[in-house]
Amino acid sequence: MLMLIDAASLWYRAYYGLPSSIKAPDGRRAGAVRGFFDGLAVLARRYSPTGMVCCLEGNWRPQWRIDLMPGYKAERALANGAEDTPEGLEDQVAAIEALLPALGVATAAHPDFEADDVIATLAARTAEPVLVVTGDRDLFQLVDDERDRKVVYLARGISKAELFDGEAVATKFGVDPGHYVDFAVLRGDPSDGLPGVKGIGAKTAVTLVNTFGGIAGLRAAAAEAGSDLPERQRRSIGEAGDYLERAVKVSTAVADVAVPLTDAALPKAPADPERVEALAREWNVGSALKRFHEAIAPQGA
Ligand code: MN
Ligand code: MN
Repeated sequence: MLMLIDAASLWYRAYYGLPSSIKAPDGRRAGAVRGFFDGLAVLARRYSPTGMVCCLEGNWRPQWRIDLMPGYKAERALANGAEDTPEGLEDQVAAIEALLPALGVATAAHPDFEADDVIATLAARTAEPVLVVTGDRDLFQLVDDERDRKVVYLARGISKAELFDGEAVATKFGVDPGHYVDFAVLRGDPSDGLPGVKGIGAKTAVTLVNTFGGIAGLRAAAAEAGSDLPERQRRSIGEAGDYLERAVKVSTAVADVAVPLTDAALPKAPADPERVEALAREWNVGSALKRFHEAIAPQGA
């Protein structure tokens, strides 16, 4: 099984999940680095992947998505366009991004795309079972029972991660994974700056998606005289046509990003032991890295 990690989700959970008293020898906060690799170790033990790729946010808020929807993630952006990042996380992210290749763990990113898109792309490229590890709800769209694609959802932290197959997605949201985007676009998603459609809340969104077969069917029903769509909703769907078209594009993970082929095999030994050693000392994460190595050893053999 190929494990595709939404690395930013994991380091955010690690940052908020571990006490700020965990420090590097130079006094900088180090909880996110330690928690990230301990998290990888937990996931490797729990799910025994044969391959692992840490997918990075090459661009957390791509311009092409902003062009489609100016409010996209706007609330999380600083004036200079960078992501508003909590204190002391940036250096730790740099350390994690340096440690992964030194350890020999595959990474993937593209400068014009989010980790969501890179994950969708790598999932589309393989016939193997895939486990996506993320705290980003958008990726529920990738769940597919037939192709054995599941999501480990990190909403409440790494130890409380929940495994979602198609049935679990349907139970939580009321729609199949294939209609998750339709549901999110209709209802809106404030954290991504998707306003949703006027007068349509989560409950109505579920009913509409399941009755009319997603946004395409819904728009056809809105355009057709004598369809079962109530008048009030016919009007709001009709008026929202431009939004719906743009929001679906913004919310759909791109599955054909030009990321280089990566060898996802778990490393049997660090690719650059000296660099690992130096970073382990700099960040005081030697034991977390040791736990990570032990966790992947059985599968790496
Ligand atoms: Mn994401
Ligand atoms: Mn997303």
